Amino acid sequence: MSTPIPVIVGHQDTLLSLYLPERGCGRDFFERSEIGHLDLPRAREGGVAGGFFAVFVPQDPSIPADPEPALKVTETSYTMRLADPLEHTYAMRVALGMVALLFRLEKRSQGRLKVVRNVAELQNCLDTGVHAAILHFEGAEAIDPDLNSLEVFYRAGLRSLGPVWSRPTIFAHGVSFGYPLTPDTGPGLTDLGKELVRACNRLGIMLDLSHLNEKGFWDVARLSDAPLVATHSNVHELCHSTRNLTDKQLDAIKESSGLVGLNFAVYDLRADAARDPNTPLELLVQHIDYLVKRLGIDGVALGTDFDGTTIPAEIRDAAGMPKLLDALRAHGYDDASLRKICHENWLRVLMQTWK
Ligand code: ZN
Repeated sequence: MSTPIPVIVGHQDTLLSLYLPERGCGRDFFERSEIGHLDLPRAREGGVAGGFFAVFVPQDPSIPADPEPALKVTETSYTMRLADPLEHTYAMRVALGMVALLFRLEKRSQGRLKVVRNVAELQNCLDTGVHAAILHFEGAEAIDPDLNSLEVFYRAGLRSLGPVWSRPTIFAHGVSFGYPLTPDTGPGLTDLGKELVRACNRLGIMLDLSHLNEKGFWDVARLSDAPLVATHSNVHELCHSTRNLTDKQLDAIKESSGLVGLNFAVYDLRADAARDPNTPLELLVQHIDYLVKRLGIDGVALGTDFDGTTIPAEIRDAAGMPKLLDALRAHGYDDASLRKICHENWLRVLMQTWK
């Protein structure tokens, strides 16, 4: 048996799942559950050594939702109305709650989980089997226009930020979900968004392009001096979803020595974009192959979107990660390549990005 290769997961919504009792059904991060995709026992079973713990602020439940359904599906297409912007005070309160939850998990873990703030700490976690948590915001609603909270959250441990989820912020416009469509779904960064990019570069916070629309992507590509990263996105040529990256975008990521983390969301993998968990592993291998061809072996990683989406039934959860690695091995990937995809590429990009 070959030695397991530690995996850094580019995006997971486990914090949200634990924060919202109705989503996590009261499960505990330290106990093995069948609910959701990731807890510490299942991470260890699957060789998942850590990853980006997303703080995602859901819609404010006290504000009545638009009665018109957001998602419109036909036989061959879907579109989803862009979510409403969040109010800053509400977003700040929820974000603080989720960041505090992560620190409480760290405390309760008694050394089994660590919030990492630099590459040496991350590497040390990989070497010693401590689960590494990278604090990430999926959407910058909790950041104020003066960027004061950015400085404070950075000091607390924020090391990765998506200026938007798929809804507008004061910084940018998220990509609206849709198929078959291009990612060019709206305007680019606002002036404040450009300031945010410069501030993240200065502080050494990684910018995540995964939910930006195409104009926003190009704005960041022009401004940022860090490698371009999409933590959980796939290949537009293989699945024409707005969340996926065109060849031109992939070329820009390669040019910047950045990376793309494969998203396990079945509707961003399948050519028909169906929400069908019976999606074969070969399809994930095809996206990886395409990414490797376009970005080189140094530009590909695993995003997953555990606890945030519908993933292939064959993988099921974090414990199923070795099945994907076996499929890649069977397809000719050697251990040196797999180590790059599983964690070395993240280490390289973070080394170039974090200060
Ligand atoms: Zn996402």
